[in-house]
Amino acid sequence: MNADKKLWEFTDPGKAFRLINDNLPVGICAFKDDKIVYYNEPLLKLVGLSPEDLATQSLTYLFSKTPAGEAIAQKIYSKILRGDLPNYVWDNPLKRPDGSTIILRGIVTRILIGDEPALLVTLRDITQQRKAERLAEEQAALFRLIGENSSDFIYVHDQDSNVSYASPAVETITGYPASEWGSTTPPYLVRGEMTDFAMAATQKALQTGEKQPPYCIEIIRKDGSRRMLEVNETPYSQNGTIAGLVGVARDITDRLKAEEQLLEMNRELAKQNENLIRANKEMEAFIYTVSHDLKAPLVTLHGMTDRLQKKYEELLDERGQHYLSRIRANIERLEELVLDLLELSRIGRIEDAREEFDAVEILLESIEQAREIVTTKNLNIIYPEKLGKTSYSRKRLRQVFVNLVTNAAKYCDDNREPVLEVSSRVTGNYIEIALKDNGRGIDEKFHEKIFGAFQRPGSRKEDEGTGIGLTIVKRIVEYNGGKIWLESDTGKGSTFYITIPCAES
Ligand code: ADP
Repeated sequence: MNADKKLWEFTDPGKAFRLINDNLPVGICAFKDDKIVYYNEPLLKLVGLSPEDLATQSLTYLFSKTPAGEAIAQKIYSKILRGDLPNYVWDNPLKRPDGSTIILRGIVTRILIGDEPALLVTLRDITQQRKAERLAEEQAALFRLIGENSSDFIYVHDQDSNVSYASPAVETITGYPASEWGSTTPPYLVRGEMTDFAMAATQKALQTGEKQPPYCIEIIRKDGSRRMLEVNETPYSQNGTIAGLVGVARDITDRLKAEEQLLEMNRELAKQNENLIRANKEMEAFIYTVSHDLKAPLVTLHGMTDRLQKKYEELLDERGQHYLSRIRANIERLEELVLDLLELSRIGRIEDAREEFDAVEILLESIEQAREIVTTKNLNIIYPEKLGKTSYSRKRLRQVFVNLVTNAAKYCDDNREPVLEVSSRVTGNYIEIALKDNGRGIDEKFHEKIFGAFQRPGSRKEDEGTGIGLTIVKRIVEYNGGKIWLESDTGKGSTFYITIPCAES
């Protein structure tokens, strides 16, 4: 051990006194007649002056910021020197020669040097402490601001439920002012299972220090109305122990009501949906039965009129023959209608087997099937080598193409060479096929309508058809998860778009 540091071995008490003072974390100095007569090493570091410069400083000059401050300080120091004031504490900023500024806390007391009164000053750098205090104040102000601006009710309480903070929203939510929110259980809680659960959750949070799941609680407002609150409580620690908790209570009455209404609406919708599906199924079954049952008498009628025409034609005069041919034409139309309706009722009712193929194969088969009208109308069909591989029922896709190709031929513009251009592109998991014709076009106001059954808004008297073709097309496309729509310019042509799923492989 270094013998120099053993105090009891010092023969010179003055030297020991110095050694202690120079190792203290505070600056110490003494002033007599406003002149410095003693200082320790830490003081030099604090004020940033050399011993020579320090010797020229007076107490008031050194630590008073302004001449006015200097005058007040002098008065106070005189009082201390006279023994009228035991001590004086000040916090002042000090600008050091290197340009930095620190905040010093000085404590000035009276001492005697010999028989003469003098001033002893101890100085501590409190810059960091001040910073920390300011930060804490700012954070507290921020916290209050959050509390004051929150529509949720925020509160802080300790282990014994003593409330140290309750935000103003408590009044909006409960009708009782924040000041009434004390250490006792609030008067507005509805007693019951919910409250017991809430109390248990709070106790658990305070015991374990772990945040508990939010709980709901019912309250009675000052005006007697009932509200539901959702409460989130988070425990907090101070000095290593669970000190209390921060709670946030939100009024969820309106949200719960809205959720309940939404649920009710959903239930209602689901019921309506079920009814619709049932009604739709019944309608399909009805259409199927009616069209199916109509088929047999129609076949008989067809056969009988055939025989009538063959065997008794010469017995009928011209008018009779005309009537007979009108009857035949109408029977044929009825047959067409019944067949189309039967077809429509089959889509979705009967599961069709899917296969994988390029859609162009089916387009070619469809053109072949619609050959008669395509040739009659001299429709020029342009199509690419491939349209894209799909997974579909061949029969259903053929129905789609036959109807669309037939329409392009049927509703062509007699003043120009009819052309149908088929193209495709892939969008996501679907192939979008466009069938663009240069026919007579469709007025925009009918773009939705033409997909409805028996709707033929743009057709002329001489156009044959039942108005079910596009209904069948739409039903098939949508049943297979696709969409159908059209763009058209009256007098210039129409483009029908359909989407069909891409093949999986
Ligand atoms: P139909 O051809 O038996 O009348 P659709 O359901 O196939 O029945 O068509 C409905 C109506 O839509 C047609 O009557 C016609 O007015 C119009 N239409 C369909 N396709 C075209 C087209 N490519 N160009 C112009 N009009 C069309």
